[in-house]
Order: sequence, then structure tokens, then C-alpha cells
Amino acid sequence: MRLPSIPNLVRTFYAFSNSTFRAAPAPLRSAGLLRPIAQKSMPTIPFLGALFGTSQRNDMSYPLKKSDDEWQAQLSPEQFRILREKGTEAPFTGKYDKHAPSSGVYTCAGCSAPLYKANHKFKSGCGWPAFFDAIPGAVTRHTDNTFGMARTEIVCSNCGGHLGHVFKGEGYPTPTDERHCVNSVSMNFAAEDGEGKQ
Ligand SMILES: [Zn+2]
Repeated sequence: MRLPSIPNLVRTFYAFSNSTFRAAPAPLRSAGLLRPIAQKSMPTIPFLGALFGTSQRNDMSYPLKKSDDEWQAQLSPEQFRILREKGTEAPFTGKYDKHAPSSGVYTCAGCSAPLYKANHKFKSGCGWPAFFDAIPGAVTRHTDNTFGMARTEIVCSNCGGHLGHVFKGEGYPTPTDERHCVNSVSMNFAAEDGEGKQ
């Protein structure tokens, strides 16, 4: 008698449930966690995401303009994937996730524009660096409808580099009740406050 392959059935079920049910909007973490999970279980999604990213990237204008070839020459492959192709780093892996300096400034990894001050950062537990506010004018917001969710994408106002997303009303005890969820790869850190020096 042939036994049914239960482990395979179970694995299939979990792969299906991850990609289906995790996509439902949920408080706090869903948006940030969705993309890495989706990439593991749904191989077609990165391709679709790249298509959407391209269409969004080309119809915006920023003071600093470079071609993809120029960006590729300047950035690491991972920086290019995230900053220019709107990728997302894996949660809890970024070098600034648990970084908590008392002073200094986080700058754009693409163009060095100051983005966030150290005292904007707070501990969210979401797996990515979190800021409750940005340096005025440094960050531009766009509606991002990829993955069937209305999210607010944030990019560097100077070069258009993708930073992450901003979420509001999650209940964090911060002055703005906003969470700028930013990829570590999109930033550099300077211990001295570089605002105004760029
Ligand atoms: Zn920039």
C-alpha cells in the first residue's frame, strides 16, 4: 500500500497559506513582512514588482538624475536592487536595525543627502530601522499600490532613491505616531550631524 506523502502536503499547505493569508492587511508589521515572505513562496512576484518599480521610477523627477548604468557603477548590487529597483532587505539583517546612537545623521546611500537624525530613530521591533520623523523636505512620499495594498512609499527627495515605507496610526509612543520603515542598505550613518553640510 502506498502511503500518501503527508510531509509534502503539509509543506504545500504552509507555502500556500503564507502567500495567501499573510497578504491580508494587519496592524503593525504586515506590510513590512509581506515582501520577504512573498519572495520566498511566490517566484513571480519579484518580476511583477520590478515592472511596477520601473513604471514608477521613470515618471518622477528629482534634482539628482543618473542613468541606471551610472547608478550601477556607483552602488553595490544590493544597494541598486533596493534604492533603484525598490527592493526590500530581509528583516532583522540590516546594519542599522538595532543601531541606536545618541547623535549623528543618517544619509542617503545614493547621494549622501541627510535624511534622518539619530534622535528621530526609535525601537519598533519590526526588523528594520524605524524613524518617527525625517529632516524637513528630505523624504518624499508616494502611494504604492503594489501587492494589492495601499502603502506610502518614501524616497530620497534629492535622488529618488527608494528608502522604504511610512506607516501611520500604529500606536507607537512617538510624537508623530508615524513609522518610517527604512532599509539599512539605503542609508549611511555619520556620527557628526551633517545637516547643512551637503
Ligand atoms: Zn538620495
